[in-house]
Amino acid sequence: MADKLIIAGTPAEAVASKNAQNIYMAGGTEVMRLGSLVSADSYVSIRRIPEMTGIETDGDTIRAGAACTFQQLADCELVPGYIKESLRFMASRTRRNMATIGGNIAIRRDDSFLIPTLIAASARVSLLGQNGSCEVSVKDYVFDKDKYEGLLITAVCFPARNILVRSYRSANTAQSHARLTASLSLAGGRYTACAAVKNSGIYMLDDLAAELSGRRMSEDEIVTFVKNKADIHLDDDLLYGSADYRRYLTGISFALMYEELNADNNGKGGCAK
Ligand SMILES: Cc1cc2nc3c(=O)[nH]c(=O)nc-3n(C[C@H](O)[C@H](O)[C@H](O)COP(=O)(O)OP(=O)(O)OC[C@H]3O[C@@H](n4cnc5c(N)ncnc54)[C@H](O)[C@@H]3O)c2cc1C
Repeated sequence: MADKLIIAGTPAEAVASKNAQNIYMAGGTEVMRLGSLVSADSYVSIRRIPEMTGIETDGDTIRAGAACTFQQLADCELVPGYIKESLRFMASRTRRNMATIGGNIAIRRDDSFLIPTLIAASARVSLLGQNGSCEVSVKDYVFDKDKYEGLLITAVCFPARNILVRSYRSANTAQSHARLTASLSLAGGRYTACAAVKNSGIYMLDDLAAELSGRRMSEDEIVTFVKNKADIHLDDDLLYGSADYRRYLTGISFALMYEELNADNNGKGGCAK
């Protein structure tokens, strides 16, 4: 149980209340989880900050407050289908009613529901700290953890159109943790590939994306390419499968998403050749 709970009314109030001893709490589904590594004795609740719960668009980009819940986003007609697909990876509606998009990004889990999709979509986060505000890509936020530690995510921006994104999740059951969550996007003739691999990490597959952007690849070529990637660290895992199986699964997931994206793109694919 928390010793101290501060309920912030504005982003500025939240930032002013943040210190080395407390942590932000949005939906609380991670910080209150038994065994969570991010529990604390004191919390700054950011759940009821009006500026952080709205969803708006200028037609090209959606700007969602970081305290928007998964369900709120899934129910919003402005939110594109590729985001809704990954929001529904969280199978429990009860949890979707509480968990927030900002909390899912901030926790940077290797079975993250949203991070691969948001990175593939070149999504950005607005950040606020005691030294001011800035906007960075979700990719930079995730991979440069120390730089952004302790900052408040106030909003998340992602494209409303002019991008094709496919995401894939593999788990033992809909409610189980994912062994793999992967996403591939196509925008302006370029692919972007990102994968969250349980008990391993979150990876950018920039080399695969560059190959896909340059030439048409077969399913076998993609699977072999991913299987040979030495930078994805995998061990055999009793719950999630052997390293070989998970390498194959990662490869075939990208191969299938590639085919789907090419079909979405009227069969043209993203490559010039
Ligand atoms: C049974 C169970 C299974 C789960 N399985 C998964 C899973 O498979 N994949 C997955 O990704 N998650 C999983 N989770 C974790 C959690 O439900 C999600 O990650 C959720 O999206 C976290 O959002 P939240 O709003 O509840 O975050 P909180 O619990 O409120 O906070 C999580 C972390 O993010 C920080 N934070 C929250 N909001 C912000 C913000 N706006 N700015 C800066 N920091 C912030 C908090 O300080 C804390 O460190 C699971 C949780 C439970 C209970």
